[in-house]
Amino acid sequence: MYNATNFGSRVFRYEVVGLRQNAETDKTNHSIRNSGSQFFNVPYERMNQFMQQISRWGGKIISIQPLDGSAPLQANTQPTPPSTPEAAAPQPAKEKKVDIPVNIYRPNNPCIGKVISNEELVKEGGEGTVKHIVFDISNTDLRYLEGQSIGIIPAGTDANGKPHKLRLYSIASTRHGDYLDDKTVSLCVRQLEYKDKETGETVYGVCSSYLNKLQPGDEVKITGPVGKEMLLPDDPEATIIMLATGTGIAPFRAFLWRMFKEQHADYQFKGLAWLFFGVAYTANILYKEQLEELQQQYPDHFRLTYAISREQKTADGGKMYIQNRIAEHADELWQLLQKKNTHVYMCGLKGMEPGIDEAMTAAAAKNGADWQDFLKGTLKKEGRWHVETY
Ligand SMILES: Cc1cc2nc3c(=O)[nH]c(=O)nc-3n(C[C@H](O)[C@H](O)[C@H](O)COP(=O)(O)OP(=O)(O)OC[C@H]3O[C@@H](n4cnc5c(N)ncnc54)[C@H](O)[C@@H]3O)c2cc1C
Repeated sequence: MYNATNFGSRVFRYEVVGLRQNAETDKTNHSIRNSGSQFFNVPYERMNQFMQQISRWGGKIISIQPLDGSAPLQANTQPTPPSTPEAAAPQPAKEKKVDIPVNIYRPNNPCIGKVISNEELVKEGGEGTVKHIVFDISNTDLRYLEGQSIGIIPAGTDANGKPHKLRLYSIASTRHGDYLDDKTVSLCVRQLEYKDKETGETVYGVCSSYLNKLQPGDEVKITGPVGKEMLLPDDPEATIIMLATGTGIAPFRAFLWRMFKEQHADYQFKGLAWLFFGVAYTANILYKEQLEELQQQYPDHFRLTYAISREQKTADGGKMYIQNRIAEHADELWQLLQKKNTHVYMCGLKGMEPGIDEAMTAAAAKNGADWQDFLKGTLKKEGRWHVETY
């Protein structure tokens, strides 16, 4: 999916404090003092392993600087983003407590992002076209959290000669961006395409087609960020149930990358993340390889359940939709929902809501409860039911 570059050959200088003298640190070539900074030169491919070591040794990373004289990662140099958790470049250990950024850029004053890459996510034989688009935002003050959205204002004018209105898109990257340098934002965009019932003509969506055609270097008007509905709880022990159809995977990619691909001293996920992902064909499973890799790496913390409607069948021979998978796991899900730190997130096309409602109604009834009562009186009241459908 991504281009190969020289990113992997770089060496980084880590400043670390708080290392304790012990049997393991004794084996290293570095003298360990109880106070003051220690400096370590670490090649890119060993960064993740090094972070784990530092964490085991009780140290804190104060800064990470590239050593090869190159500028800090520039988004337009297209460094290779890590493809495996081992290769993931870690973050500075202590993230500042962040407030929720909203509307840093409004429609009358958008910022300009520059396209770094725009790559197809649907494989051969799949339905439609979905792009993973990375924008360089290093020349802006835009910042965001996982689960938020940004607005895109397509170039050109509408049928009345007025500038196009913005469309919202869920952010698919973590707050640190795909290159972990806090300088990019990524989207996962499906090109809207349908047949006009009266004329029979194929109609393409304005903004999704505009985004679909963007080339590296193109400049795009961006607004936002917006949204407080889909934010992750701080609790690293939480159970996070994610229900996605199609591009609804976008915020969950951000969640999962934050939980498993990045390293954070103040957010080391040890709970359960369970993704139910509904698509039409296997070729439409967006980010399939990375999701499955995470599942293999973290089998105790990440469950991945697909519903592939055109290929898989239910027990009674029907098409397998996400609600059918929920029904299969109804009792387990119901038990999980009783825990105060279980959150459910739903994202994708609006059409997914009634099916999920039906499946949850059945799950609750099986356990002698009324779904609507539980949803309103418990889950929503406690801020544990999060929906963003479009
Ligand atoms: C919070 C939020 C997050 C979103 N996140 C994402 C995301 O991550 N990825 C993503 O791809 N999209 C996302 N969307 C949807 C996105 O905002 C746009 O609505 C979508 O890309 C279509 O915009 P467009 O300009 O291409 O289509 P437009 O040119 O605006 O056309 C849309 C219009 O076409 C008509 N239409 C659509 N389908 C049909 C049909 N089958 N038959 C007849 N008429 C039809 C409707 O009138 C509809 O309003 C999100 C929306 C919201 C609100």
